[in-house]
Amino acid sequence: MQIFVSKDECCGCSACEQICPKNAIKMVADDRGFLYPEIDGSLCVECGACKRVCSFQNGYSENHSQKAYAIKHKNYETRITSRSGGVFTAISDYILDKNGAVYGAAFDSDFSVCHIRTTTKSERDRLKGSKYVQSDIKDSFSSVKKDLTNGMYVLFSGTPCQVAGLKNYLGGTDTSKLITCDLVCHGVPSPKVWLDYIKYYEKKYKGKVEKADFRDKTLGWNTHKEALWINKKKYNLNKYTYLFYENAIERPSCFNCKFTNLNRPSDFTLADFWGIDKIVYGFNDNKGVSLLLVNSPMGAEIFEKLMGDIEFVECDLQKSVNPNPNLYMPSKRPDKGDFFWDNYIKYGFKKALNKSYVRIVAKKIKKRVFAKLFKLAGKK
Ligand SMILES: Cc1cc2nc3c(=O)[nH]c(=O)nc-3n(C[C@H](O)[C@H](O)[C@H](O)COP(=O)(O)OP(=O)(O)OC[C@H]3O[C@@H](n4cnc5c(N)ncnc54)[C@H](O)[C@@H]3O)c2cc1C
Repeated sequence: MQIFVSKDECCGCSACEQICPKNAIKMVADDRGFLYPEIDGSLCVECGACKRVCSFQNGYSENHSQKAYAIKHKNYETRITSRSGGVFTAISDYILDKNGAVYGAAFDSDFSVCHIRTTTKSERDRLKGSKYVQSDIKDSFSSVKKDLTNGMYVLFSGTPCQVAGLKNYLGGTDTSKLITCDLVCHGVPSPKVWLDYIKYYEKKYKGKVEKADFRDKTLGWNTHKEALWINKKKYNLNKYTYLFYENAIERPSCFNCKFTNLNRPSDFTLADFWGIDKIVYGFNDNKGVSLLLVNSPMGAEIFEKLMGDIEFVECDLQKSVNPNPNLYMPSKRPDKGDFFWDNYIKYGFKKALNKSYVRIVAKKIKKRVFAKLFKLAGKK
């Protein structure tokens, strides 16, 4: 049995591993740190369940985004500790108040990122904040199935490929109590590179990382800087962010993403509301505004119940989508191909990081100089 031919065709959602009736599939990290299914030929009975469940290759059941809202959670503390406007907290509170289970991506004790199941608000708070690294789904699909079978409400949040993977995995299960939210996703970086990054700074600043934040909001919602806390001291850094936004460390399938459009696998789509100032004047206070796309009748019904917790303005769907490129195209493979990865495999993390950083900074300076020259030329 072969599930995929090229790595561009596997998003690593792990639905194939979890559906295999013979436990013949294990998710194994490749040399870049991304998980791919590996089949134990001695256990495989060639039933084809793994091939059939793959949403990346076979498609997924689509909801078309109907409505767009600009949202701020009314509770200031909630918003400031969320990545965008805190709409995820409002949706998940609704499910937790119904004694449901909420699944999403959390840091583990070593700062690796994986999906966990939460049933209280304090546990759910571990899901808040964007972790710009691929989350390991572990056994959460089978756990969702168990919860649904036991009659619980379940909210599953993740990248759209993870949600589509879950839905294909659930197949004939009763999903009437399943609510899903996906993210507008720029792409998911390598878990191995993220842990290398942590180790690199632990060595440099001689201590253990105590806290990590991929986008330090205390600098303002629109500032792109990560922060690490070591020996109780906060370090604002930008090297990881630069690699992420230059698409140097993303999973290969992200450049072939099937979900960068308004046909969403989920009831809700969550994003940063970029371009808000041109759409709703005076709504942005630089503390975070969420773009919420409501994609299904179930989403619309739940949205009605959130109104006590949120400030919101309905916006034109197309105008809201335009400033957010990953709602209409996948991120682009870097111009110079695998510069980071070639150096990573050849020389290791530190050299790959520093060489890539120098190149990215040089590119940014060049771009700024050209923009200035262009402006000056225009003035003459
Ligand atoms: C890898 C990644 C790329 C993103 N790219 C964009 C983008 O290009 N444009 C844009 O507008 N928004 C992007 N987002 C979404 C955005 O950053 C916020 O996550 C979203 O707006 C929700 O904000 P909030 O304030 O409602 O929620 P928060 O309370 O901050 O909730 C975070 C939610 O994100 C989920 N989550 C966090 N990290 C991960 C992860 N690694 N994998 C899966 N789920 C995760 C949690 O489970 C939770 O549901 C991205 C998020 C991630 C994780």
